[in-house]
Amino acid sequence: MRKKIIAGNWKMYKTIEEAIHFFEEIRGNIYESDKVEALICPPTLYVAPLLAGTLDIPVKIGAQTMHYENEGAFTGEVSPAMLKSIQVPYVIIGHSERREYYNETDETVNKKVQAAFDHGITPIVCVGESLETREANETENFVNDQVAKAFENITADQAKEAVIAYEPVWAIGTGKTATADDANAVCGAIRSKMAELYSEDVAQAVRIQYGGSVKPGNIEELLEKEHIDGALVGGASLDPVSFLQLVEAGA
Ligand code: PEP
Repeated sequence: MRKKIIAGNWKMYKTIEEAIHFFEEIRGNIYESDKVEALICPPTLYVAPLLAGTLDIPVKIGAQTMHYENEGAFTGEVSPAMLKSIQVPYVIIGHSERREYYNETDETVNKKVQAAFDHGITPIVCVGESLETREANETENFVNDQVAKAFENITADQAKEAVIAYEPVWAIGTGKTATADDANAVCGAIRSKMAELYSEDVAQAVRIQYGGSVKPGNIEELLEKEHIDGALVGGASLDPVSFLQLVEAGA
């Protein structure tokens, strides 16, 4: 039985006061569960203070991105070694916004996935097709190719621990969600790809999230599906009440 993972990607939203207020609102209203893991990925600036300030709340704090080098002249970046040094458990890698605006490629995604595993940080590897690719009926090929490239040189033991987020680009922040059946079909194709790349064991262990306009009103039918093990959520993770509802849906 795979533990569900509900992850909030705050992107570039919230002041520190707003971030603290969010956790004050959820403190006491969220519980440890064998069935679901809750994670918030705030702006990098807040990762360390929120890690320290939320030790009493069963919500993990992750990063939205990182460099693949451990150190160097890379102004503005954070390294895997830095994230490890403050015990960050998860990092989002290859979000479509990073691929679109910051030249993230399948090659840099792969380097980052390797660097994350090398530092004991679990990567949430984002893949997903554009509307054009979907309309050309190329979704599964495209997404499977992104998966294969992201996992090059990753061992089976590492791959088992990975989280993959299937996020159709046309569904992110647009209010358009893939139907639960469509999302499940692509998540199932990704699982088959992992079986082909590794083994059935790895494919059954890896957790696959859906992301793209997930809200309290649509999460339940998504989580009922065989291959959907959670959600990566942008907009709806910013509000404490809706984040709590999303986590509860997985419990
Ligand atoms: C995301 O940022 O990964 C995302 C899925 O955003 P939204 O939920 O707002 O579509």
